[in-house]
Amino acid sequence: MMNSNQLKIAEAVKGFLPRNEAHVLYDAAISVDVDGPFLEVGSYCGKSAVYLGYAAQSFGRILYALDHHRGSEENQAGWDHHDSQLIDQRTGVMDTLPFFRDAIFTAGLEDVVVALVGHSEVIARNWTTSLAFLFIDGGHGEEPAKADFNGWVPKVKKGGILAIHDVFPNEKDGGRPPYEQIYLPAIESGNWNEIEVEGSLRILKRV
Ligand code: MG
Repeated sequence: MMNSNQLKIAEAVKGFLPRNEAHVLYDAAISVDVDGPFLEVGSYCGKSAVYLGYAAQSFGRILYALDHHRGSEENQAGWDHHDSQLIDQRTGVMDTLPFFRDAIFTAGLEDVVVALVGHSEVIARNWTTSLAFLFIDGGHGEEPAKADFNGWVPKVKKGGILAIHDVFPNEKDGGRPPYEQIYLPAIESGNWNEIEVEGSLRILKRV
């Protein structure tokens, strides 16, 4: 388990991952029993990367943390999840990378967490390393969710873990694409068993 200092650092990072879900995510990551790196899609300011980074560090793994750092649709000005502090004053566009770097530095995880700065689909196209653990918390629109499913889910090894955030079976609770384009196709493929549910987080294991 994380120590109290690590918990304090993780909880101080900006983000939308509730504490209970973060702890389940961490526990899923330390339960991994196949070789290979971890990868997350959608790092934002680094909150989940700090939890997953501490998990990876505890048994000698690496976490690749992928994000274009320009914010998802729902983070842009005028949307619910906008934070004006994340606008780069020089360019006028969102830039979460400085916040991410600060979080990883503060957490002492620069040797463990490797930032991949770019579009998920572009990176997935040329990515050939099999993954032990994949966390998808990327773009929540239909097209980005579908692309994350097609681009990343097949790269998880047998016995590896897939964690999906913002899965809302009931549309009153939130947007549907992570449920319809990632969670359901994974379950329907027969390649995945659901092993845990916490809030909108789903933990699946590849059979
Ligand atoms: Mg999320």
